[in-house]
Amino acid sequence: MLLPEVDRPTIAIAGSSDRFPVRRIYCVGQNYADHAREMGSDPTRQAPFFFAKPGDAVVPDGSALPFPTRTVDLHHEVELVVALGAGGSDIAPDAAERLIFGYAVGIDLTRRDLQAEAKKAGRPWDMAKGFDRSAPIGPITPGVPPAQGAIALTVDGEVRQRGDLDQMIWNVAEIIATLSTFVELRGGDLIFTGTPAGVGPIRAGQVVRATIDGVQPLEISFDA
Ligand code: MN
Repeated sequence: MLLPEVDRPTIAIAGSSDRFPVRRIYCVGQNYADHAREMGSDPTRQAPFFFAKPGDAVVPDGSALPFPTRTVDLHHEVELVVALGAGGSDIAPDAAERLIFGYAVGIDLTRRDLQAEAKKAGRPWDMAKGFDRSAPIGPITPGVPPAQGAIALTVDGEVRQRGDLDQMIWNVAEIIATLSTFVELRGGDLIFTGTPAGVGPIRAGQVVRATIDGVQPLEISFDA
């Protein structure tokens, strides 16, 4: 049997014809206090926790996506995404920024019904979070991400999520430092840094637009 060739997924870089090669996708859970509360957690006592999506779950800006299988409660989570140009293990927070290649706006698509079942049964989140095309991400802006600025998401033009990057419980440097104690980070890794309050359902046929001030926006739609 002839084995298939596997292409490494890539993401557009704003202002460049180069593309960012994706290695792994990590995500932080409940990193904004108001979202932690809406999920029934105490935002003051949680150390950052992490989960992952497959690298080939990325989809670019402008995509029209088939509605995901096995869910009747697909949720949007708008997030700042950090793209690493280099990595390491046990990285100190004050050494973390120099590993950053750039940043983008992403949507951590979540099959909330499957996640709720997994939580209840004490089972893994993979099928709730790491499904096909679960990581839409806009073009990457080179540089270190801003520590504040509006982050928002609309569905069919209606504002669903609106927050500010300065509401993050753990900042980008702390996230990189903590994550690097669990796994060795490498250039090509993406980190979704958590979502503000207002997560909610997306229906077939809807258009979802995610924005962060000063960052190239991301718009996707779902087939009717
Ligand atoms: Mn998330």
